[in-house]
Amino acid sequence: MSTVIAQGKTGTPILRLSGVGPRIAERLARLGIHTVEDLLFHLPLRYEDRTRVVPIGSLRMGDAAVVQGEVQLTDIRYARRRMLLSRIADGTGSLTLRFFHFNAAQQATLARGVRVRCYGEVRRGKSGLELVHPEFSVVDAETPLAVAEHLTPIYPTTEGLHQLSLRQFTDRALKLFNDGELELCEWLPADVLAELALPSLSDAVVNLHRPPPDTHIESFASGEHTGQRRLAFEELLAHQLSLQQLRQRVSQHRAVPVQAKRDFSARLIKALGFELTEAQLRVTQEIRDDLSRPTPMQRLVQGDVGSGKTVVAALAALDAIESGYQVALMAPTELLAEQHFQNLSRWCTPLGVQLSWLSGSLKTAPRREAIEQIKIGATQLLVGTHALFQKDVEFANLALIIVDEQHRFGVHQRLALREKGGSEDLFPHQLIMTATPIPRTLAQTAYADLDYSVVDELPPGRKPVDTVVVPDKRRDEVVQRLHQACKQGRQAYWVCTLIEESETLEAQAAEDTAAQLQMALPDLRIGLVHGRLKSDVKESVMQAFKSGELDLLVATTVIEVGVDVPNASLMVIENPERLGLAQLHQLRGRVGRGSVASSCVLLYHGRLSENAQARLAALRDTNDGFEIARRDLELRGPGELLGTRQAGIMRLRIADLQRDIELLPLVHKTARELAKKYPQNVSPLIRRWIGDKVQYRDA
Ligand code: ADP
Ligand code: MG
Repeated sequence: MSTVIAQGKTGTPILRLSGVGPRIAERLARLGIHTVEDLLFHLPLRYEDRTRVVPIGSLRMGDAAVVQGEVQLTDIRYARRRMLLSRIADGTGSLTLRFFHFNAAQQATLARGVRVRCYGEVRRGKSGLELVHPEFSVVDAETPLAVAEHLTPIYPTTEGLHQLSLRQFTDRALKLFNDGELELCEWLPADVLAELALPSLSDAVVNLHRPPPDTHIESFASGEHTGQRRLAFEELLAHQLSLQQLRQRVSQHRAVPVQAKRDFSARLIKALGFELTEAQLRVTQEIRDDLSRPTPMQRLVQGDVGSGKTVVAALAALDAIESGYQVALMAPTELLAEQHFQNLSRWCTPLGVQLSWLSGSLKTAPRREAIEQIKIGATQLLVGTHALFQKDVEFANLALIIVDEQHRFGVHQRLALREKGGSEDLFPHQLIMTATPIPRTLAQTAYADLDYSVVDELPPGRKPVDTVVVPDKRRDEVVQRLHQACKQGRQAYWVCTLIEESETLEAQAAEDTAAQLQMALPDLRIGLVHGRLKSDVKESVMQAFKSGELDLLVATTVIEVGVDVPNASLMVIENPERLGLAQLHQLRGRVGRGSVASSCVLLYHGRLSENAQARLAALRDTNDGFEIARRDLELRGPGELLGTRQAGIMRLRIADLQRDIELLPLVHKTARELAKKYPQNVSPLIRRWIGDKVQYRDA
């Protein structure tokens, strides 16, 4: 991949820099540095302040500082290891230098009366403050050492490439730049920069490599440093532009316009037994508008757990099917796909629609049969997991792909799907549904290539789930409460979680818990589902729970998404602190689907960290998924919220979505303006920050 990026780069080859030969060049390439310009964009991770000598008396623990003093005593000690201790003093105080690795020459250098300057991190030792393995040099009376003129940059590096070399190379690159032998193109027009009150690119770059002594080191961590803000802004802008470009390219593709009579959808709505909410109607209309166009729909539908997205998807599917096309609906887990298959069968079979099922666990013969039916176009609605898009699955005339619970799929998977369903010049419409609400600004950043609808209303009559946070020592109480509820005809979930992402361990925990609960509550009918069970076993357990033959379902987080059993009104989640807020909210969304008041018990073990307390409190305080997402963003950052895969699309070098979130509205605005007023700047910006990544080019 790096070669692909390199091809897209123009600039001064890194070999031109003095001191860089083929071996060093190869190491620099590992850091993504191929040109001198790349090197200038290779920015420090952090800085050290060696610009002033600090009085020893003013040092605090944890400071990294330069001190200077006279050696009072140096000798070798034998504790568990042999070590060299040297005591220095500067009139304001004294401290110890401690070395575990040293030679005779170093020992001799640190003779009594010699003045040394040291740099290191201050720790607390047995006899006061000390520096362990500081860098040090002798200060001569005639040639006093100069202090550093700038904060000292610490660069991300790689094996065989020393910090000092990187500092030297960047020095040389900056000199070329200052001498005008190298240019960094400024792609942000002056009027844009002025409006944003950000420094120019060259000021920002120079400043970040060699910050002047009066720079507050803390300003880098907090994102307040203007040079850093400038580059973070530009990087986010480049990402936004690239997704915008992707969206633009897709809009040039063709799709079949779906113009249905809407007889099917009218019949489904009649048969539902409930009225669609205003939000459902509005989003349905937005989808219909998209579908009727000759360009592929790319729409993300967000909606809180239980807002009724499945019906919306079904209505879209029926329009396409009625117009003579095939539809594929994909879910991330078999359990969820099964649920969809059942609901959709119930809704669509009476209309004469042919449904098929495809999952990884389907046996050879039925699989072959299913594939044949899809290929000849007999299957109108195909439901399943990723298996839907395996190589040998060919569609006759696929017009619409629906992806449920999208947070598990990244942009590249999304693109791959389109390719799969597409023919030479016709692409399917795509509808993507997610129940992990993401604050709008963030959604517009991570999904800038998609249109965006929100089902922002719950069906009437839903009661909020009453949530309590309870320590494990009250487990017996919880078990008794569960018993009572089940004896009153309610149904319950008991969800087991594990820290490690091991399905086997999680399954084991669920099995153990089910056995314990069965012992404690012999009169309850208890079922068990986890990811290790065969799909037909899983399905029959779910069926039994659904039909009320089971009182209690012990489960792993496999039931996180989509499972819909309205009579279940109590949920216990063990070790909830291990999960993200969004995931907990999803889980909790399995109850509160019927008309009885529901409750959720968050049963934690041990002591909760402050952060965990805050997260569980958020869940207790509100049932609003968007509010929960907002708090999750504050507490855990966007990577968690978007899911690692999704966040992976934005492998940011300088910007940090959480730290720089308040830049995002400006980034969006600037991206639109730039594309309009300065279209020639778009590609160079994307190339600078993202390169010509294969995925984006192919899209
Ligand atoms: P989600 O948005 O979480 O996917 P579902 O589509 O699973 O939600 O819907 C949750 C439940 O609400 C289902 O049982 C569904 O039949 C029901 N439902 C959907 N829309 C309405 C409505 N307008 N009125 C009443 N119940 C509805
Ligand atoms: Mg759903």
